[in-house]
Amino acid sequence: MTAMQNQDLTATITNIQPLSTEDGPGIRTTVFMKGCPLRCLWCQNPETLSMKTELAHEPLRCIDCGACLESCPQGALQRGERGLVFGSSCRRCLSCAERCPARAIRVFGEKVGLEELLDSLIRDKPFYRHSGGGVTFSGGECLLQHRFLLAALPALKAEGIHRCIDTSGYADPKVFQEVARETDLVLYDLKTIDPEKHKLYTGVSNELILENAAWLGASGIPFWIRVPVIPGYTAGAEDIAALAQFIGERMGPVERIDLLGYNDLCAADYERMGLEYTLKEVPRITKEEMSRLQEIMHGSGAHRVTISNYA
Ligand code: SF4
Ligand code: SF4
Repeated sequence: MTAMQNQDLTATITNIQPLSTEDGPGIRTTVFMKGCPLRCLWCQNPETLSMKTELAHEPLRCIDCGACLESCPQGALQRGERGLVFGSSCRRCLSCAERCPARAIRVFGEKVGLEELLDSLIRDKPFYRHSGGGVTFSGGECLLQHRFLLAALPALKAEGIHRCIDTSGYADPKVFQEVARETDLVLYDLKTIDPEKHKLYTGVSNELILENAAWLGASGIPFWIRVPVIPGYTAGAEDIAALAQFIGERMGPVERIDLLGYNDLCAADYERMGLEYTLKEVPRITKEEMSRLQEIMHGSGAHRVTISNYA
């Protein structure tokens, strides 16, 4: 791709989060890219699922002034029981959000140009340097916007900035390999080895994910594995043991595996966006149970297994 073509590249993002400490080593800036081919029941970022620009009303901020309703050229907005409802005639013109004096209409899905994004990421370089951090592209599934990544990652490298991607691994192997070779660390999410459970919980087969995982293990590219631990879904001892076996046999000695507990703080986001949230009744995992799963995961041969977000 030429420099001229790169100038026209844009990414659709939902957020740029500075000072992040949970998306790789050190202090990082995380770019949440919009769009994901998976539909994990426990997704904590529902605003990143669709590639389209989305709007959500925040009733707690709303002062009920009616400016949004007056500004809508489509008559697409209605007052509902739990706040504003965006009808199907909405054209995403964003007039309502711009006119809202209380900032009670959130917009997810801003288009950002390559140079503009790079400028803002490079600005935080002193934080990265002093903490051993850098930039992480997350989502959603950042590989859906791989052309943008393949332009941004080398540019960050030229600035001496450490680069991570956080991925489900659900991508064409050629795309995955090309992007992985441009990163300093891959955060690779594995949910379950069981093909039927995987399809049921995420909407897609895990065949491609496991194939890309095995390639990553043999590639020499540094990576960490992240496992969402959801009681009743992925938190069974036998599920974790099967994952540990796969990792040990197909990915080699892994530097670090993070077992990530789950909370339902995202339930409000689902409601705001008018999406159904099916995991309302799932209890938080206890520390004892997490520690037991940590022990099992040590069987993979990983140098380090961390646990977080337990009751
Ligand atoms: S984005 Fe535009 S069309 Fe959609 S509800 Fe707001 S003002 Fe109406
Ligand atoms: S313009 Fe903003 S504050 Fe006023 S009714 Fe609409 S959402 Fe609420």
